[in-house]
Amino acid sequence: MRWEGGRQSGDIEDRRGLGPVGVGGIGVGGVVLALIGYFVFGINPTTTLNAVNQAGQGAQQQQQQQVAQGRVSDREGQFVDVISTNVDDVWKPIFQQAGRTYRPPASVVLYSQSTGTGCGLGQSAMGPFYCPQDQKVYLDLAFWRELEGRFGATGDAAKAYVIAHEMGHHVQHLLGADQKAQRMGARGAESGSVRLELQADCYAGVWAAHASQASNGQVSLDPSDIEDGLRAAKAVGDDTLQRQATGRVAPDSFTHGSSAQRMRWFNKGAESGDPRSCDTFNTDEL
Ligand SMILES: [Zn+2]
Repeated sequence: MRWEGGRQSGDIEDRRGLGPVGVGGIGVGGVVLALIGYFVFGINPTTTLNAVNQAGQGAQQQQQQQVAQGRVSDREGQFVDVISTNVDDVWKPIFQQAGRTYRPPASVVLYSQSTGTGCGLGQSAMGPFYCPQDQKVYLDLAFWRELEGRFGATGDAAKAYVIAHEMGHHVQHLLGADQKAQRMGARGAESGSVRLELQADCYAGVWAAHASQASNGQVSLDPSDIEDGLRAAKAVGDDTLQRQATGRVAPDSFTHGSSAQRMRWFNKGAESGDPRSCDTFNTDEL
């Protein structure tokens, strides 16, 4: 995958040097919820985090005074900047054609271990996530190591897919899909939250389809990169995660969809390049 030299918007909030915050403030319940969050990888964290105490809020205010927002100088940070900017550049014209205005997320936050968010305390054990309350994407880059080591999803394209999936949740927030999902309920294999996750996968595919065109070729994926993206989608499917964690699959508690479903919806978006093909809310076939 090619990305060096791609446009950087500089909307990166770099909290990596600050270390963990507020961990002492969460009770046992918070820790348990955070562990559940681990398996759901990037779920809209409000459901997980609402129950976590308010320690994160104070920590967030304290942090915001210290955090510099702007360009990052290291290669890992630049990668996140280039990809998230490219995702913005893909969605802007798509919104425009539909007579809407796309607004990028408030920022992409890089942090280590734990950080305050508009949704409560964020922890790296939850995996990457999007917080609709502050409209920010949260990433602990230690997840990249996990993606490679634990899930065997290597390559920049696998990481880019994760970023595009989280940005997909932002697109959903702008379009009101997250509220729709909430109304449908959160439990079961065909729940609103599964439909929301599969749609974010499909939106990641839509990004992949337009990445090169939106960057004049500065960001480009070849067919093997698409394979890497599919492998990442497969790796983070709930059945794969559950099998690794418990040795068995329990479809009832799926929150993201199976590996096969995730690959199918990513592929749908990547093949059509059209977000209208991502209507996971009006189909009987997930
Ligand atoms: Zn997600």
